[in-house]
Amino acid sequence: MNPGGLAMQFRGLARASQAVHPIAGLPRLAPVRHSLNTTFLPRVSAFSTTAPAYCANSQSPPTASETNNKSSLDSTDKYVAGLRHNKNWAAQTAREHPDLFPTLANGQQPQILWIGCSDSRCAETSMLGLLPGDVFVHRNIANILHPGDLSSGAVIEFAVKHLKVKHVVVCGHTSCGGVAAAMGSKQLGILDPWLLPLRQVRERNLAILESLPVDQAAEKLVELNVRESLNIVTQKSVVLEAIQERGLQVHGLIYDVASGVLRELDTTDSDEVIKKRLVAFKLEE
Ligand SMILES: [Zn+2]
Repeated sequence: MNPGGLAMQFRGLARASQAVHPIAGLPRLAPVRHSLNTTFLPRVSAFSTTAPAYCANSQSPPTASETNNKSSLDSTDKYVAGLRHNKNWAAQTAREHPDLFPTLANGQQPQILWIGCSDSRCAETSMLGLLPGDVFVHRNIANILHPGDLSSGAVIEFAVKHLKVKHVVVCGHTSCGGVAAAMGSKQLGILDPWLLPLRQVRERNLAILESLPVDQAAEKLVELNVRESLNIVTQKSVVLEAIQERGLQVHGLIYDVASGVLRELDTTDSDEVIKKRLVAFKLEE
């Protein structure tokens, strides 16, 4: 929509609002339903779960169940199908694993911290065939770890220091939209600063990437990105301590979305880097 059209639409909305709003000083032809003027609303606690009286009329907004009934007309709606499936899934899981939900109600002891892409095709617990409580997760676009990122940093520290996971996994995947975007030079708004570390990896490895066909170059950048994130993870003192004190393992994986198969990266080089860091870490004490 062009800016002029948007401005006209906005003015139209403003006029419509003035025609009925009680504080606009204009004659009001009919009671205003759902007005934001709190004078006309019944007193309801801010956190009340009881529907206010004005909802009990034929013109009230649809209830959640009414909305669901309407949505359920569309059998392809994944949200509706998922909610319906949830009860069956919960019952079946409880039958197959009677202790699972009662145990999880008391806490979690995941063995794996998974750092992956937000991509809908990369559902870690499903692809590993594991259960709720098995995998602690941080996912973002293109599984990028910014060294100073509070979100990923908090997840890693909590998982390693408090949950004491045994494995930290960084998983990239084929056909990654974030990697494809980083291969190009288009301006992408908020994604530009997010993808910057990935573009820096690309720049550092330009000779290798330019020697490959485009599709192979993208796959290579997926791998390089995983290795870069592993490097960031193993720069964290909490991770180095856990490697030294209790044998925490760090892994790099690539998930092939076309086959569903995970491939483990050879991380011998990064193992050597970690050993050197551990020595340096000790010397600093
Ligand atoms: Zn991705």
